[in-house]
Amino acid sequence: MDKGKILSKLPSVDELLNNKKIINLLEKVPRNVVVNEIRNSLERYRKKILSMDGEILNKFKIDIDEIVFNVVDNSHEFMEMNLREVINGMGTVLHTNLGRALLSETIRERVWSVASGYSTLEIDVLTGKRGIRYSHVIEIIKFITKAEDVLVVNNNAAAVMLALSTMAKDREVIVSRGELVEIGGSFRVPDVMEQSGTRLVDVGTTNKTHLWDYESAINENTAALLKVHTSNYRILGFADSVGLGDLVELGKKNNIPVIEDIGSGVLVDLRKYGLMYEPTEQESVAAGVDEVTFSGDKLLGGPQAGIIVGKKRYIDKMKKNQLTRAFRIGKLTLVALEATLRLYLDEEKAMKSIPTLRMLTEPLDSINARAKMLYGMIVSKKLDLDVSIGENYSEVGGGALPLEKLPTYVITIKAKNISSAQLEDRLRKYSTPIFTRVNDDRVIIDLRTVKEKQYETIVQALVETVGKQ
Ligand SMILES: *Cc1c(COP(=O)(O)O)cnc(C)c1O
Repeated sequence: MDKGKILSKLPSVDELLNNKKIINLLEKVPRNVVVNEIRNSLERYRKKILSMDGEILNKFKIDIDEIVFNVVDNSHEFMEMNLREVINGMGTVLHTNLGRALLSETIRERVWSVASGYSTLEIDVLTGKRGIRYSHVIEIIKFITKAEDVLVVNNNAAAVMLALSTMAKDREVIVSRGELVEIGGSFRVPDVMEQSGTRLVDVGTTNKTHLWDYESAINENTAALLKVHTSNYRILGFADSVGLGDLVELGKKNNIPVIEDIGSGVLVDLRKYGLMYEPTEQESVAAGVDEVTFSGDKLLGGPQAGIIVGKKRYIDKMKKNQLTRAFRIGKLTLVALEATLRLYLDEEKAMKSIPTLRMLTEPLDSINARAKMLYGMIVSKKLDLDVSIGENYSEVGGGALPLEKLPTYVITIKAKNISSAQLEDRLRKYSTPIFTRVNDDRVIIDLRTVKEKQYETIVQALVETVGKQ
């Protein structure tokens, strides 16, 4: 049979619309979506036929059921939200690809009321005159960090770019070679500096930079000294860098501002809670750094944002920079940031209600108790699995505390009928995607980053992906 004849036997769009299964589908999926998927399926089928020849072509029969199956499947898939919640069983608390910090449940109502209603975004309630978007968070950030002034932009990369562009455009910025880092997601210090129009003057060596390295590079073109927190790695052993205090003193002596990209930073000293040291914004401000930049969605535990705190005279200049308008944050970010920051007014409350801080400091026996609970739920289903509770380590992520290994408890699973790689794959493709790790040929679910209300979904996913014994 020739191809033309086969092609002419393909059903029309209208014929398919009268198919029983498609009629059922139309009860749930809008007609224009279904019609579009019918056209796509027919087009793929046409291409498939055109690519065939010889024996395969001769034996070929059009399979209406297959076309209908594809239309139904693809229509349902098209209707699903792409950006949706997943379960993080990997134990990395600040996972950039999974959305970094989780917002606190306690701010839900505040965020939603501003998102779905008119708000005080840029209006002064007392005078009725136009207000300033950032004003909502300025006082509270000043209160927490003791900085003179504040500016908030879209993310920390934008904050660094804005600070450099405002304070050092067409001039030189001195930075240690040990701090020319790349932070995931294509933030590379030398590239950011180039984009901001400043000239990078790198001093010292990879492992050691001394105060006199900076000092001897200073000249009349020097606009700033830049310190970058080497967030996601550490040089250990024969290594040394210049402390903030010395750098600030050098800046003062030469009348040159110091900018610090602190990366994550943290607003509470985590050592009190048994974690390793991570620099706090308060320390940098107290040390006299002129401008400090940090992320809103790392250890701060808020929405994606870049915060700049420091001397008013530079912040005033930044406000006039056109980049500030381009880097402007939206009201969703702003309300989530203000509501999150308000939790810090009571540190105890912050530790309990900000998910990032709560997950990082959850006591080991509490994680163990939660692991036992999920274990019990899985075992009760009598699935074709070997399940146990194991000890393991979680990571902080987000370029914070890179050396911190947090002891944790995990559920480890070995399916009897499929490999661990297959199980990992199926859990990830579940309707609520479940991200796990494979360790020693076992699938691992770290309880630290799993919420109790997600246990039922995990159990259901296992039931559906491996079935009963
Ligand atoms: C994470 C990080 C950045 C980038 O911050 P974003 O908020 O993701 O833009 C920049 N510098 C350092 C040191 C970081 O750790």
